[in-house]
Amino acid sequence: MAQLQRIVIASSQLQPEQIILTSEQQHYLYRVLRLREGDRFIAMDGMGKWWLAQLAGAQAKILETLCVETELPVAISLIIALPKGNAFDEVVRICTELGVATIAPVVSDRTLLHPSPQKLERWRRIAKEAAEQSERAIVPAILEPVSFSAAIASTTATHRYICEARGSYPHLKTAINEVSPTSQIVIAIGPEGGWTQTEIENALDAGFQPVSLGKRILRAVTAPIVALSLITAIYEV
Ligand code: SAM
Repeated sequence: MAQLQRIVIASSQLQPEQIILTSEQQHYLYRVLRLREGDRFIAMDGMGKWWLAQLAGAQAKILETLCVETELPVAISLIIALPKGNAFDEVVRICTELGVATIAPVVSDRTLLHPSPQKLERWRRIAKEAAEQSERAIVPAILEPVSFSAAIASTTATHRYICEARGSYPHLKTAINEVSPTSQIVIAIGPEGGWTQTEIENALDAGFQPVSLGKRILRAVTAPIVALSLITAIYEV
């Protein structure tokens, strides 16, 4: 099964025993990948289900439902202040590979980038492609950018951490070690210029615990990767 191409389908494409392919998917499967009628691929709904499917014209016949267990046991959300330029593209791609469940891009006091609606579409496409590539069962949700205060007010996660580059705070690894695998974790990462004091105080008021990612100052794009890698190392054996 490992070598079969994976594509994400919308729930509206799913029929009892077949999948209706969009013209874009047909182009990709027949023209780009050079598959032929009868060839097999994996269809995934991005919400936990995979099917082995066989190409049949503009449809694909569902051959069997597949069991996929590639998700982390904990649901991890990231609140990330948008970095400059296109750096967030790589953050979305790598964090998807590492198993993030939700990414909430935020505009903080020191954020320089104010994204266009096209950016959100782009990030969602990148998350979908990275989920296909990394054999995720789910495609992470990329939320609409909001202010940092709105993001911390709306989180429902049971365990909340804000990464602060300076100061004497417990390491994320120590803090997370006490968390049960069924928990929902949210981690906030600041922009290039760091969080303002007011943002940190507001986060603490909203139940966030300040944590360190080590003694070096990481770039804004490196910090979420380190945070997710640490959690993966703790929960995956
Ligand atoms: N300009 C800030 C300064 O000099 O303090 C550093 C900001 S850092 C480039 C961007 C973000 O990454 C920080 O706001 C923080 O969330 C996270 N970060 C980077 N290094 C970290 C560390 N060692 N511990 C915790 N968080 C870190």
